[in-house]
Amino acid sequence: MTFRAHHLLGIEPLHPLEIATLLDLADDYVGLNRQQEKHSDVLAGLTQINMFFENSTRTQASFELAGKRLGADVMNMSMQASSIKKGETLIDTALTLNAMHPDLLVVRHPHSGAVDLLSQKVNCAVLNAGDGRHEHPTQALLDALTIRRAKGRLHRLTIAICGDIAHSRVARSNILLLGKMESRIRLIGPPTLIPAGAADWGVEIYDDMKEGLRDCDVVMMLRLQKERMDGGFIPSEREYYHRFGLDAEKLGYAREDAIVMHPGPMNRGVEIDGTIADDINRSVIQEQVEMGVAVRMAAMDLLARNLAEARANV
Ligand code: ASP
Repeated sequence: MTFRAHHLLGIEPLHPLEIATLLDLADDYVGLNRQQEKHSDVLAGLTQINMFFENSTRTQASFELAGKRLGADVMNMSMQASSIKKGETLIDTALTLNAMHPDLLVVRHPHSGAVDLLSQKVNCAVLNAGDGRHEHPTQALLDALTIRRAKGRLHRLTIAICGDIAHSRVARSNILLLGKMESRIRLIGPPTLIPAGAADWGVEIYDDMKEGLRDCDVVMMLRLQKERMDGGFIPSEREYYHRFGLDAEKLGYAREDAIVMHPGPMNRGVEIDGTIADDINRSVIQEQVEMGVAVRMAAMDLLARNLAEARANV
């Protein structure tokens, strides 16, 4: 099975074998990234434009590094300061950029569906770096690679995703990916932060960490997405930490060898205790960042191959 997709807009359209192909290639890139000489030129001559309409630290840096390690010409556009502020529509921005002949367009946007819309207007490969509450496919892929390397597999694991599920594109992409890989998923959080309709997603839902974490292999914590909240979703951060913040006591309910994950940025003392986050025997948070670069290299490599094939067939 090869990787057939022409864009990486979400996990939803991907076949499990496409996911496995991408993760296998990413594993190779982990090896390259650990060498002194980290350069390859599979993207040499190609132009990668990163358009971030929402703030980002690690994702933008990770995509930039991934493109540079593969030899692409990488340009970062700070969309906060761009003509968007002057009233240009997303489509006009896309058409303007398209006229500069990019090959890979990496887009983050606060509105769900905006990246998909943009992909229909350009003739290059588009990668979704997070669109509203919808999807964040490279995050789910890097999480999957981290889990696969730590646990040796992605199937038949019990994985808890905890906290602010309602506002999280990370949760959505992970639920889709881990579901395709036949893992058992538990969502744990206060009912106000569990989206309506979650019961139909093939997941188990808990509002108690003790019950929800029992026998889990993976404990994935999520940030409280305050910027996406427009009301009182939690009584107070203190109360939230008391009930849902991951500390040593709550982690004790999971399996003894359970790993702890967080996509970052972390709110220490709100959703996770700092000591747990820094515990190298349990936390794989730094590995997630490392896997992020490798997964993005693999995604851009595979999309560039399909782009070259599509262009050759025109
Ligand atoms: N960095 C992730 C995202 O962009 C998670 C977060 O912001 O909490 O969705």
